[in-house]
Amino acid sequence: MSDPDHDKAKPTEIAGLCGEELTRLAREQLAQGSGIARDVYKDALRRGRFEPEAYGLRASAAAQWRERFALTLPRVVRVVSEESETGTTAKAVLALSDDLECECVLLPMGRERSTLCVSSQIGCKMGCQFCETARMGLLRHMHTAEIVAQLLVARHVLGWEFRNVVFMGMGEALDNAQHVLPALRVLTDQLGLGMSQERITVCSVGNVDGILQLAQLGMKRLNLSISLNAGNDALRSALMPVNRKTPLAALQEVLLAYPQRSNFVLGVNYCLLPGQNDSAEHAREVAEFCRPLGRVMVNVIPYNPGSVPLTRAPTEDEIDAFIAALRAHGLPVRRRVTKGRSVMAACGQLGNVQLRVQKKASGALAGR
Ligand code: SF4
Repeated sequence: MSDPDHDKAKPTEIAGLCGEELTRLAREQLAQGSGIARDVYKDALRRGRFEPEAYGLRASAAAQWRERFALTLPRVVRVVSEESETGTTAKAVLALSDDLECECVLLPMGRERSTLCVSSQIGCKMGCQFCETARMGLLRHMHTAEIVAQLLVARHVLGWEFRNVVFMGMGEALDNAQHVLPALRVLTDQLGLGMSQERITVCSVGNVDGILQLAQLGMKRLNLSISLNAGNDALRSALMPVNRKTPLAALQEVLLAYPQRSNFVLGVNYCLLPGQNDSAEHAREVAEFCRPLGRVMVNVIPYNPGSVPLTRAPTEDEIDAFIAALRAHGLPVRRRVTKGRSVMAACGQLGNVQLRVQKKASGALAGR
């Protein structure tokens, strides 16, 4: 399941491979020195290092390794951070090999635990009205190795410690299933990063094909969350254009068919937009959507205004009232505490619209 976009003229990126794939490719492609493949893989994924010279190979064998394989880590452009009671929220802007930038965010989760929120696309084509990334449009998909490399940079270059990974950064993860699904395999490969599936959450706006592909991957302990934001089609279509193609009934159908483990809890993310989706009636509609879906956890995310705000941020009273209305319908609810708003690292605030402008001027957009 290696990266489908791999350019055969370039060295293969190790971060886009599982350990067995690297072992096989090394055997097929190297005349000598393939026996160190498992050690190379461990060092690359666990220490962020690719040093074939370090294993006592002949210079010619090490040179072959470098010809055929590489570990390219994105360059850290800048890091911004914000302190809060729960710890430091930090956003890293990373430049990929074509100088396009992705962003990943370290989120403190209390009790000295943190989660890394990673990107899967440069920009996004989904057009959600409350999201800064949407304003960029989609510049391109991130490749498997680029997705995984965010973890390596976070851990080994920035020194960030995190237990969990969420695909809630720039991009709709399942719109890039061709690279995200292999990345899930790499993240959980015991030979390398060895993350347990329970520590990974894939978030989607409700990409039906992508959810089906995720289900087929057979990783039943992965967490899945969907971005709901409205329980009626008219409002959801206005806020999230994807709903015109996949209305709530179709989303419900694919979620009902999603293979659930016994303790599976579907995350339902709800960005609270004052005056738009925060009435008692909206809460009732959310409850109606969720009722058939089994165990859910509604995550209420107070809106974080971006550079062109859709509305203001909700007040504490408005947040409390909506949460109370959801609970009155029997829904378990968690409030997502706002983190990183001052440094544009909060939910819905990632992205650099200027990049689109620059790319458009240079004629280098992916055309999607
Ligand atoms: S909320 Fe997610 S899916 Fe929607 S535009 Fe933003 S990045 Fe894309």
